[in-house]
Amino acid sequence: MRIESDIIPLGEIEEKIIEALATELKGSNFVVRVYAKTNPPKTALNVYRRQYNADIIFDTLRKLKGNIVAITNLDLYTGKLNFIFSVAEVDGPVLVSTYRLRPEFYQEKPNFDLLIERMSKEILYSVFKTQGLNDCTNTKCLMHKTTSVGDLDYKQREFCKDCKINNTVKGFKV
Ligand SMILES: [Zn+2]
Repeated sequence: MRIESDIIPLGEIEEKIIEALATELKGSNFVVRVYAKTNPPKTALNVYRRQYNADIIFDTLRKLKGNIVAITNLDLYTGKLNFIFSVAEVDGPVLVSTYRLRPEFYQEKPNFDLLIERMSKEILYSVFKTQGLNDCTNTKCLMHKTTSVGDLDYKQREFCKDCKINNTVKGFKV
C-alpha cells in the first residue's frame, strides 16, 4: 500500500526544504503531490507571543481535501502546549514546523541535512499517526513520540523490530 501525501508549503518556507522532503517521502514509497505555497490564516498569529496558534491553522487544514501535510517555518503553539514540532490526528491533516528543528534555534551551526533528517522523522511519525498507528515505547523507534530534538535525533528513521512486524502486516513500511 502506498500512502498518498499532499504537501502544502505554508508561509515563507524555503523551496529546497520542500523539495528535499518530497524526495524523502518518495524514497519511503509515498505518492507525493506538492501544492502551491499558501499563507496561514491571519487570526493564527499571536502578536504577544510572536507565535502561531496551531489549533487555528489546523482547523483550516481540516477543511481541505486530500492527505494534507502542511510544512511551515512558523513557530507553533497550541492551547495546551507552549510549543510544538508538529500536530496530526487520525484520518486528518499533518502540520509540521521547521522552526524548532533547525540547529540554529539551539545556537548551533545551520545544518541542512540534519534539518531534513529531523523533519523526515517528524513527518513520517505524524503521517503514520493519521493512518492509526500507535506510539511506541522503544526510544529508538520512529513511532516513539518525542518532544525534544535530543530525543528526535536519538530515534531512528525506521520502525523497531516489533513495529516492523506489526506494521508490515498492515501494509506500512519506511
Ligand atoms: Zn516501535
